[in-house]
Amino acid sequence: MKIGTLASHSALNIISGAKAEGFETELYCTSDRVPFYRSFGMEDSIVEIDSFDDILEMDLSDVIIIPHGSFVAYIGSERILNSDLRIFGNKELLRWEEDRQLKSRLMKEAGLRVPREFDRIDEIDSPVIVKSDGAAGGEGYFIAANKEEIEGKLDSMEGYTFQEYIVGTKVFTTYFNSLARNRLEVFGADIRYETDADANLRFDDKPSFVVVGNLPLVLRESVLAQYYEMGLGFTNAFMREIGQELAGPFCIETIIDKNQNIYTFEFSGRIVAGTNIWIPSSPYSFVLFGEEMWMGKRIAREIRNLLDIGKLDDVLR
Ligand code: AMP
Ligand code: AMP
Repeated sequence: MKIGTLASHSALNIISGAKAEGFETELYCTSDRVPFYRSFGMEDSIVEIDSFDDILEMDLSDVIIIPHGSFVAYIGSERILNSDLRIFGNKELLRWEEDRQLKSRLMKEAGLRVPREFDRIDEIDSPVIVKSDGAAGGEGYFIAANKEEIEGKLDSMEGYTFQEYIVGTKVFTTYFNSLARNRLEVFGADIRYETDADANLRFDDKPSFVVVGNLPLVLRESVLAQYYEMGLGFTNAFMREIGQELAGPFCIETIIDKNQNIYTFEFSGRIVAGTNIWIPSSPYSFVLFGEEMWMGKRIAREIRNLLDIGKLDDVLR
């Protein structure tokens, strides 16, 4: 059994972790990226392809595919859902993540505090962030201070979600839900840094929320305890709504305001790039394991443990 992924996003994290756990690996790499991944000594893993789509046509029946942020961005959730790929995690969650209504239902069911959403322009009574349907990763979003500003910018609400704009610090907390050990692990936290919404100087009223990268964050321990509870709420809600156990890494994406209220605006049911900062270990994974443990290695360790107890098929959905 091999472990494979697309050469992008968190591939260094995933492949180095799989190797550390003794797995053979496959890194599906377009030719332009080969020199880069080779420079990290990954030549023995590289499978050169013309386009990321090619993996849909290949025989990968002996490979466990670890999905990351580029799968949906470059291949699309529908084609992934309909493929025979043996994906570690939960394909069904992709559908819930992509549909704003299902997504918000799951967050509410989990007992998370979410930003208010407005159905009518005249209901708007706070600054808002306007998200166009289908836009991802902050592209195409804009903000408005009040409803008068919206009226000047848009004729109709069709195709947009209007969310209360939360002023605060963006905290992304990552988790690992282990079916082999039957426990939820808090893995780490980071701050997503966005151009140019996070820049110090701004001269326009249309900041860009496009991600540049991530900064490490170690939360106040009392606040971390709250995030642990939120993670439990999320896995329980997942079980109630989708009827399966949430397997492996996930992330709850939040903003903490000045009153220390934690607002959840998004989640990801897979490895997120924020875990790249915790190679070779996060403070919490080190406490949990007493050894270096980064997310790619944690995933491979879980696969190994599940193979040992004959439960691997439960997480390849
Ligand atoms: P890239 O290979 O950098 O073009 O990224 C592929 C996909 O992953 C895009 O949809 C990016 O928005 C997303 N992505 C890459 N890095 C990050 C990050 N640090 N945080 C959130 N999303 C990311
Ligand atoms: P998303 O596509 O939902 O991950 O959002 C992209 C970025 O938009 C986030 O990283 C935040 O910077 C910003 N954002 C999203 N929702 C809100 C909100 N309700 N209040 C303030 N900022 C937000």
